[in-house]
Parts: sequence; structure tokens; C-alpha cells
Amino acid sequence: MEFIIATNNAKKLKELSRILNPLGINAVSAREVGVNLDEVEETGTTFEENAFLKANAAFTKTNMPAIADDSGLCVDALDGRPGIFSARYSGENATDESNYLKLLDEMKDVPANERTAYFNCSICCILPDGNKIEVNGKCFGEIAFEPNGNGGFGYDPVFMCNGKNFAELSAEEKDAVSHRGQALKKLKEELEKYLINNK
Ligand code: IMP
Repeated sequence: MEFIIATNNAKKLKELSRILNPLGINAVSAREVGVNLDEVEETGTTFEENAFLKANAAFTKTNMPAIADDSGLCVDALDGRPGIFSARYSGENATDESNYLKLLDEMKDVPANERTAYFNCSICCILPDGNKIEVNGKCFGEIAFEPNGNGGFGYDPVFMCNGKNFAELSAEEKDAVSHRGQALKKLKEELEKYLINNK
């Protein structure tokens, strides 16, 4: 069985392939089947809605089962920002660095005990019969006072989880605790159940 992975991010495609292959599912990129995801507007107000919009666009364009995710960082002292706007927090031409520097600036007067935050990852999978599997993963931590580490991506250099900076973890260490790792684990469990019931 083939599933479209509705992402332009090669790392996410690889990560999902690793999880899906043992289930007998072949992950193909949206690009490989000619789906242009740039046309999909993320007009949802939640991670769940945006993951659904992306998966549903791929599903309706190709009639193939599809998986999409939407993720971001929610900071308590900023009322949940940057949230669903994490990727472009510092503007249209945002980079990972400009985003986390903006965040650090906004947090400069926030004391250590009020710097709590979490990463969220919502995954939506549209099955061959049109039914959905929706899963969610969260990883709780704090925002550091300054960036550290050279690994990972996005806000990793300023996110601390269990006293460790995300950008200093190996990929395996991060997968074991991350929002995406947890959501993917749940997706795998749900897909296993679906495949058993639909042999
Ligand atoms: P998207 O789900 O690809 O739209 O990602 C949204 C944005 O959230 C990314 O561009 C990053 O800025 C941020 N983000 C999501 N997951 C992570 C993570 O694991 N580490 C650091 N930043 C992340």
C-alpha cells in the first residue's frame, strides 16, 4: 500500500518512511506524485485543522491515502504564541535563527520559573476508505535565556527538556521524547490496528 506524505520536508518524509515501512506501507512524497502543496493554504486555527487541510488536499488530488503533520512551539508567557505561526514567526523571510531570536527578545524579562513551553505535533492520516486517524504529541519544557547547541532545527537551540537543550540531543534522544516522536508512535499503533482489521 502506498501513502502520500504531504510535506515538502525531506527529513519528515524519511522519518515517516522509517515508521511506515515495517507496516508494509510505502511512503511517497507529494512531489513524486505531482501534488503541489504550496497551493494548500493553512487557514485552520489549530494544529489539528491545518494537518487535516494538508492531508485532505493530498487525498482529494490523488485519491491516495495521505498523511500530513503540523507542529509548532507554544509558550505559556506569550499566551501560546508562536503556536501555529511558528514557522514564520519573525515574518515572511523568517529563518530558524530570526524566529528564535525574536522569541528570546520577547522573553527577555520573563523569569526562569515562568518560561514554560511545549512543542505540539498533530498528525492527520486519511485512510483509503476516507476515514481519518488523528493523533497528537506534546513535549513539555522551558525556554532558555540564550541559544545553545548546533543540532536539530527550528527552535531547538532555545528549548530545554528535562534540563537538556534540544539542539544538543542526538536524533535518537530527541525522537524518544519529542512531540513528533510521540505522535508518530501513536500513529503507528493506530495504523497497525487499522491494517489488522482491514486485511
Ligand atoms: P511545520 O509543522 O513544518 O509547519 O513546522 C512549524 C515550525 O515549528 C517549524 O518551522 C519550526 O519552527 C517549529 N518546530 C516544529 N517542530 C520543531 C522541533 O522539533 N524543533 C524545533 N522547532 C520545531
